[in-house]
Amino acid sequence: MIQNKSLKSLNTFGFETVARYFSAPDSTDKIEKLLEEVQKNDIPVFILGGGSNVVFSKDFDGLVMCPQIKGMETVDENGEHVLLKVGAGVAWDDLVRYAVENRLGGLENLSAIPGNVGASPVQNIGAYGAEVKDSIVSVNGIFVEDGSRFSLENGECRFAYRNSIFKNELKGKTVVTHVVYRLSKNPVFKLDYGNLKSELQKYSEVNLHNIRKSLVSIRADKLPDPGVLGNAGSFFKNPVVEQREAKRLLELFPSMPVYPADYSDISTGKVKLSAGWLIESCSLKGYRENSIGVHHKQALVLVNYGGGTAAELIRFSQMVQNKVHEKFGVKIETEVNII
Ligand SMILES: Cc1cc2nc3c(=O)[nH]c(=O)nc-3n(C[C@H](O)[C@H](O)[C@H](O)COP(=O)(O)OP(=O)(O)OC[C@H]3O[C@@H](n4cnc5c(N)ncnc54)[C@H](O)[C@@H]3O)c2cc1C
Repeated sequence: MIQNKSLKSLNTFGFETVARYFSAPDSTDKIEKLLEEVQKNDIPVFILGGGSNVVFSKDFDGLVMCPQIKGMETVDENGEHVLLKVGAGVAWDDLVRYAVENRLGGLENLSAIPGNVGASPVQNIGAYGAEVKDSIVSVNGIFVEDGSRFSLENGECRFAYRNSIFKNELKGKTVVTHVVYRLSKNPVFKLDYGNLKSELQKYSEVNLHNIRKSLVSIRADKLPDPGVLGNAGSFFKNPVVEQREAKRLLELFPSMPVYPADYSDISTGKVKLSAGWLIESCSLKGYRENSIGVHHKQALVLVNYGGGTAAELIRFSQMVQNKVHEKFGVKIETEVNII
């Protein structure tokens, strides 16, 4: 274990915080050994992936463990699907690129999302009408408390919009070591979200490769690059509300966008509002206080222009939540994990 490790380059906001201990184990056995040691010495543990969805509000007085298990292995295959077991330390977008290059569908709409495979089930990453839950077969890992191994089937992971068992009952209690994905040899494309269809018109054919290229281009145009401007993507979740609440708001704000709460199950009776639209309607798009602000192209993204602190960001995010609540009576929750 390394001592007093700076996490500045390990979180995409670029905030300076220090971990008392740090380790980047590259195998399940090494993770087990580390967990044994921390349990013996009563040291708190935090599992870090690519740091693209976390804010460390203070120094971490314990072990920050960054699993680096690599590798992708086909564990089963038939005429329709390939089951691929992928190490938690593989960069998420390397997996998407691999799938697209091998003509395997299911992950293409999730192109260019930062972070590692191990975090993909944690908040059930989603973009452009797709969610990773629709491709996950099982999640394998180790329980922090007793070092025992687990394998949770998709149905046991309690996936929901930007949510899973790993953000609730098992929050902070597991190290994901591998994820098994089911990828399709005959993919059904999801093209109806945002401006994907219009971007695809630049190409003569709709295929996995061109969908990926379109999304990489759309995202690069719309979202700030964390390498240039500190951010963690969407800072807030889109609020899910009862239909009658949406109706009340639509009477007051007829141009407010409303979407089905869950694309795979429209019967939930709830609907999703656009947190970005709500924030923009409070005239906060592009608004800045010192080093922290709302991005000028995407109101859902808070940015650190450089030199900002986590405390300033948290205060700023509460101001945004309060303004939205005052104007619409709607609570917007943070998507980012504040530690
Ligand atoms: C520019 C930008 C765009 C983004 N766009 C999207 C988007 O379109 N859709 C989307 O869903 N997200 C998006 N995100 C958010 C982020 O990329 C994802 O949530 C990603 O999955 C986080 O991965 P990570 O490895 O960086 O996780 P981290 O930020 O390191 O960790 C996130 C959480 O997962 C836990 N965790 C990480 N690894 C493990 C593990 N191996 N075992 C157990 N727990 C673990 C951590 O403890 C933490 O609670 C974006 C972020 C940025 C900066």
